[in-house]
Amino acid sequence: MHADLVKLLDVQARDAAVAEVERRLEALQGEAVILDQALHRAREVLETARRAALDAARRRDELEAKIESYRVIQDRRQQRLEHVRNPKEASTLMAELDLARSVVAKEENDWVRSADAVTLAQFKAAEEERNVAVVAEGQVPERDRLGLRRAELEAELASAQRKREESAARLDRPLRLRYDRLRKARTGDVIVPLLGGSCGSCHTSIPLNRRSQIRAGTVLDGCEVCGAILYPPESARPVP
Ligand SMILES: [Zn+2]
Repeated sequence: MHADLVKLLDVQARDAAVAEVERRLEALQGEAVILDQALHRAREVLETARRAALDAARRRDELEAKIESYRVIQDRRQQRLEHVRNPKEASTLMAELDLARSVVAKEENDWVRSADAVTLAQFKAAEEERNVAVVAEGQVPERDRLGLRRAELEAELASAQRKREESAARLDRPLRLRYDRLRKARTGDVIVPLLGGSCGSCHTSIPLNRRSQIRAGTVLDGCEVCGAILYPPESARPVP
């Protein structure tokens, strides 16, 4: 086999090793995302509960202000009643006072109910706050495990990348550029076997004379259709 093919196959194997570690890191990232989402959901529920508690408190305060303003008006009626001499005017005022009293009583009932609603909403918010803490706490061992695993994989990736660089450095510059360019452009392997006289990637038939040259290792040839560099599989050796 062509000497450069041996080097190229080695680079390709190193690239595959790098890609494999990257794939595992990505899968690990996916696990972290699932944890983040669970925590995020719990926090959203908490935020909703907090907003509900604030809204309930606002409604209660508004009622309180309304009742207070009614009381001021009632006090004024009361004072006027004390100074009224005309019986007709007095009976009108008294009727107004009675009516307003029943309105205030109704508003006060509403206030009691709204104060209860505030207590309930605040209780619910506190419960959701505890739930967020429980979820976060429950994730600690898993996050620790993921952190350790990530550190391991990152070290593994650095090592795989270093080995890849060492391997790629053995190629001469034009060949290295050709390989890198092909690798970027292709989804599959750059170096593919010549299978039954055809390109191992796109199955285009390779002319006979070129097949024998590839087998003899006299040329470094690429498939004219997909650009893959072809190697004779019978002479491929496993990369140590
Ligand atoms: Zn091809």
